[in-house]
Amino acid sequence: MNTQLPIYPEPYWRDPNPFQSYFRLKGDSQTDVVVIGAGIAGITTAYLLSKEGKKVILLDAGKVGNGTTGHTTAKITAQHDVIYDELIQHFGSAKAEDYYQANMKAKKFIEDTIQQLAIDCDFKQEDAYLYTIEDANMEKLEKEAKAYETLGIKGAYVDKLPLDLGQKAGLIMPNQAQFHPLRYLRSLLDQFIASGGQVFENTTVVDVEEGQSPAVITRDQHRIHCKQVVICSHFPCYDKGGYFARLHADRSYVLAIKPEKSYPGGMYLSIDNPATRSLREVTIHGEQYVLVGGQSHKTGKGVCTMEHYEILEKFAKDTLGIKEYPYRWSAQDLITLDKVPYIGRLTAKHENIFVATGFRKWGMSHSTVSALLITDLIMERDNPYEALYDPSRFQADPSLRTLIVENLDVAGSLVAGKVGLTFKEPADLNPDEGAIVMVGGEKCGAYRDVDGALHVVDATCTHLGCEVEWNHGDRTWDCPCHGSRYSTDGEVIEGPAEKPLAPVTVESGEQ
Ligand SMILES: Cc1cc2nc3c(=O)[nH]c(=O)nc-3n(C[C@H](O)[C@H](O)[C@H](O)COP(=O)(O)OP(=O)(O)OC[C@H]3O[C@@H](n4cnc5c(N)ncnc54)[C@H](O)[C@@H]3O)c2cc1C
Repeated sequence: MNTQLPIYPEPYWRDPNPFQSYFRLKGDSQTDVVVIGAGIAGITTAYLLSKEGKKVILLDAGKVGNGTTGHTTAKITAQHDVIYDELIQHFGSAKAEDYYQANMKAKKFIEDTIQQLAIDCDFKQEDAYLYTIEDANMEKLEKEAKAYETLGIKGAYVDKLPLDLGQKAGLIMPNQAQFHPLRYLRSLLDQFIASGGQVFENTTVVDVEEGQSPAVITRDQHRIHCKQVVICSHFPCYDKGGYFARLHADRSYVLAIKPEKSYPGGMYLSIDNPATRSLREVTIHGEQYVLVGGQSHKTGKGVCTMEHYEILEKFAKDTLGIKEYPYRWSAQDLITLDKVPYIGRLTAKHENIFVATGFRKWGMSHSTVSALLITDLIMERDNPYEALYDPSRFQADPSLRTLIVENLDVAGSLVAGKVGLTFKEPADLNPDEGAIVMVGGEKCGAYRDVDGALHVVDATCTHLGCEVEWNHGDRTWDCPCHGSRYSTDGEVIEGPAEKPLAPVTVESGEQ
């Protein structure tokens, strides 16, 4: 029985991986729609479009369901942290209500689809709770409760939670849900393929040729001609809308534990920052486990990432006790300037290129909102939520303020990467240690593995030239600017970067 932190991260959802393998694209092709990215947004969109009779090709740079979707906690809810008070302030009550309705309809769509296709994916209705352990955040919760009242959202301010989390207060949104996201998506993908859809893995899109009949171009220089392109690549892999300045990546950590105390049900999220905490139950081999998540921070920023797991482990021990500790993993999601996703036409000028991104860690429902919305746009039908999610919208407040802060941060990382001091040489590294080091007068990323072998790469992110930072929790190089992530040998694990970090040779005397 494992009561120690597992050495390497692995999400429960992919053990075993419910998907089969798919071939790499090996030639040019033609279709109605190309969907880029086989996470929950891409698979749901491909499934819906094929149901409408469209010929669809779904491409993924890596493996199906191995992006953020394979590393989620999979709560399906319209309770997206505290958001409704802020939405009322920035967008008005009508749009705030649209946001709620869009997500509740998405939840209903997932539920209905599971029933219709008889999908075995541990779908379960659960009440969702926000809570705080800090006096200072009581007012935020009260305002959110007031916003629920204003918008007619079912919910209530509560003192007690089914699970005692030391809360000062809580806010319930009843009848939300949770599931196994990859088992659900496997069924959608099977339906998609059965109706003539094609899937290709290890097929990275590097460009899109615009026009009446756009073409998607892959790294192997294959072209797929089509009528529409839908970009569901998490960070948009074809950035013609200035998305690099309008999105930032935020990371969180998750543990799966077998608790000593019985878990009473419910999905919980603390609104306290930086001590965010998320809990939900999961059934593994017929037994009750709990996913404990939190420790959100901007990607590539902050302390040694292993510390985040250790802090969550302590929280889990104190709250529930730990009998067993089979999985840990971490992932990141993208956040827009005004916290509302970008779903729709890439820019107002792009009639036939669509994007879905910026789900702010609420992509189970929002990816479904995006699949329904983009399908309507492609089928030339009205959708009531088009204006709310339009990527070309402009909200003067708070966008401008946040834009400046985000850009300062990005600029800071670009500049710091070039002028900052380094303290280590490759020879200083202990087994299982990574750091920025100096090799031949250049700053490089170096990792010495547990067997003592040194892996050295150029530390400049191949996306826009920021300096990557060592993520010890996952043994990866992470870019603080837009969230690209690389393996210790520089291979791209997560975009927007498309090219690997160049390997650097170190003379044997320097090792
Ligand atoms: C720790 C954590 C917990 C979360 N918990 C919840 C939760 O409880 N509830 C909830 O609603 N949401 C949650 N989320 C958010 C949710 O998981 C994400 O919003 C969602 O999975 C994003 O799905 P996606 O399809 O947009 O992206 P992804 O799943 O990342 O899929 C994008 C795909 O595109 C591919 N790709 C990238 N670039 C290219 C390219 N150039 N060419 C081809 N393919 C490419 C990638 O390989 C990837 O497979 C959580 C997020 C995190 C980080």
